[in-house]
Amino acid sequence: MEAEKPSDFIREIVETDLRAGTHGGAVVTRFPPEPNGYLHIGHAKSICLNFGIAREYGGRCHLRFDDSNPTTEDMEFVRSIQEDVRWLGFDWGEHLHFASDYFEALYDYALALIEQGLAYVDSSSEAEIRERRGTVTEPGTPGPFRDRSIAENRELFTDMRAGKYPDGAHVLRARIDLASPNMKMRDPLLYRIRHAHHYRTLDRWCIYPLYDFTHCLSDSIERITHSICTLEFENNRELYDWILEHVGVPEPRPHQYEFARLNLNYTVMSKRRFIELVETGKVRGWDDPRMPTLAGVRRRGYTPEALRAFAARIGVSKHNSVVELGLLEFTAREDLDPRSPRAMAVLRPLELVIDGWPAGKVDTLDAPYWPDAARPGSRPVPMSGRLYIERDDFALEPPRGWHRLAPGARVRLRHSEVIECTGVETDAAGEPLRVRAKLVEPTARVKGTLHWVSAEHAVDAEVRLYERLFSAEQPGSDGRDVLDDLNPDSLVVVTAKCEPSLAAARPGERFQFERQGYFYVDPVDSRPGAPIFNRTVTLRDTWAKLVQREQAPAAEAEREAREVIHVESELPPGARALRDAHGLDAGSARVLAGSPALEALFRGALAAGAEPRAAASWLVSELPASGVAPEAARFDGPALAALIALVERGAITRTVGKEVLIELARSGGAPEAIVGARGAHALDEGALAALVDEIIAANAPLVARYRAGNPNLLGALVGQVMKRSAGRADAKRAGELLRARLG
Ligand code: ATP
Ligand code: MG
Repeated sequence: MEAEKPSDFIREIVETDLRAGTHGGAVVTRFPPEPNGYLHIGHAKSICLNFGIAREYGGRCHLRFDDSNPTTEDMEFVRSIQEDVRWLGFDWGEHLHFASDYFEALYDYALALIEQGLAYVDSSSEAEIRERRGTVTEPGTPGPFRDRSIAENRELFTDMRAGKYPDGAHVLRARIDLASPNMKMRDPLLYRIRHAHHYRTLDRWCIYPLYDFTHCLSDSIERITHSICTLEFENNRELYDWILEHVGVPEPRPHQYEFARLNLNYTVMSKRRFIELVETGKVRGWDDPRMPTLAGVRRRGYTPEALRAFAARIGVSKHNSVVELGLLEFTAREDLDPRSPRAMAVLRPLELVIDGWPAGKVDTLDAPYWPDAARPGSRPVPMSGRLYIERDDFALEPPRGWHRLAPGARVRLRHSEVIECTGVETDAAGEPLRVRAKLVEPTARVKGTLHWVSAEHAVDAEVRLYERLFSAEQPGSDGRDVLDDLNPDSLVVVTAKCEPSLAAARPGERFQFERQGYFYVDPVDSRPGAPIFNRTVTLRDTWAKLVQREQAPAAEAEREAREVIHVESELPPGARALRDAHGLDAGSARVLAGSPALEALFRGALAAGAEPRAAASWLVSELPASGVAPEAARFDGPALAALIALVERGAITRTVGKEVLIELARSGGAPEAIVGARGAHALDEGALAALVDEIIAANAPLVARYRAGNPNLLGALVGQVMKRSAGRADAKRAGELLRARLG
């Protein structure tokens, strides 16, 4: 699921340098974390970028600990960071480096600046230095120490190192330009005195170099070619170049390039903030599955493949933006679907008795693990006359559009019988205690399919239901404290009734609990025979429809089970008006009405002739895949209408249409032009027929099984046609052609 070959402005720079031979064909990058905390999802973006570029261009990527700050660094973080980078699938080979290994070299470079009159020891206080630095509108003013002689500076600096002065007595500063429009160039600090124990150099040093001095020189010492960092460092680039030039590093020198850091809504992405959460006990540790740390998402059940796919999907740009957490979750579902066998677990049980079921009778069903009937694997599931169903799947007074169980309603039990609810016993408060049902003929029409477990066979298991850690879209905004925005319901623990096969689940295994979500067997707290399940991600949200559509071959029951149910009475007035005026489904109307920008795009597309349901579907289900917020999308209603027209006309497939929409959202442009530039027009009938024949010829075993009576395999063959055509084949027409050819 990872994009074939990423392309972005940084890779373009690398390619230009390779063509020009700037670094003699070398591509050397580095990932330079400070070991002062655990890595987070934002770091994953940087890791994928740095290690990815090295891999793609035959270069190498160093792992360098930027450890020049003695008070916050720790071996435990060095260990966890290495574990996380490896887990993500990257390897630094022999290039594990520490800035602290360069302290001696850095000291010599500082002396070299002093010898040229380009650095001086300033004995002013911190406040005086700040005061004299000026402001953005006023130049700085020189202090009394700026013109110290080289000899005096040399002696003072040597004595600083020798430990003759207390913290704060002096600093070493570069002597550049106090009037520079770039504040970073106004005689920046290079060294300060710190009588502190360093976790690696112990007590050997009492002066420590600052970031700007350390970073560029470390890059140069390691012969880094492309030093990639986040946009906050844009103003530091001038200083980066100045230092390398003035200590005499010859060209070709490393160069710094900046990209936009990853921001996710409903998330904070700062190691310092995490320390606070961990130390105040708001979470259970750095690897709490609610934490956006790599250790946290790993324990929650995310895979490295999902994170890499996410990094590829969000791309690399020069503009800061906020990515929807929903996009990460969507990517996780896409990744987990094919690797998670299905199982049944009832999270909030309600008893159901089938009247007339012979006492003691147990049917053992052979339930397939996968919705794709062609995929092997199944487990026995016992069925009896007393079951548990989900509390939420029963309503005494069902709202309109209810697809689940209610008095008189019929549903299918997954993998099993069709039942009709004949009655319900309630407690004094009117809460259902036990549902009664009878079997009806298996061919009866039903509204929906429910998951269930046999009561006497069920095994209890702890299930940890995780929700987002913060309830505010931008935690800590509008003057609130980040901690005020914590979601009090971010963890709900339930004892679920599970089908018996789940008792054998091993730590690290993944399941899809039908109709609930993806679950991961907690690798830390689970015990043999007593697995604890972490919910990685739920099955549904506004993104669910996309998943649904992309799983065309999935079994009918599965699709029914996933249906998003929007209860009409909850619909706000704005959404109701949109639904009624344009014949939209309640879910889409709700999403459109919830965002002025989306609604404006919707109305713009309608004014340009788009069909309302089509416009709604593209905006609600497909636009989120771009990761671009509707307010920031670079297209307008008429462009969307033009895209829809291309798809409706059959000029492009829906699959290609989705990619075009992503490009429109991110970069703007005209749909026709994008399609033309990509050569992405739909295959014509002749080309499609030829491709279908090719796929039939290449898949003899699948074809034989299809002909032997396994109709579900058609989906697999259609999938191959789609894949081979890079989305340019029409899936429906491909299915028709295949069916016709295979008789
Ligand atoms: P914090 O402020 O939380 O400590 P940091 O940015 O200082 O984080 P570093 O250890 O300095 O953390 O980061 C290592 C590398 O990861 C740097 O190159 C930095 O630019 C990059 N990085 C950090 N956060 C992000 C992010 N949100 N998105 C992309 N890259 C990031
Ligand atoms: Mg930092």
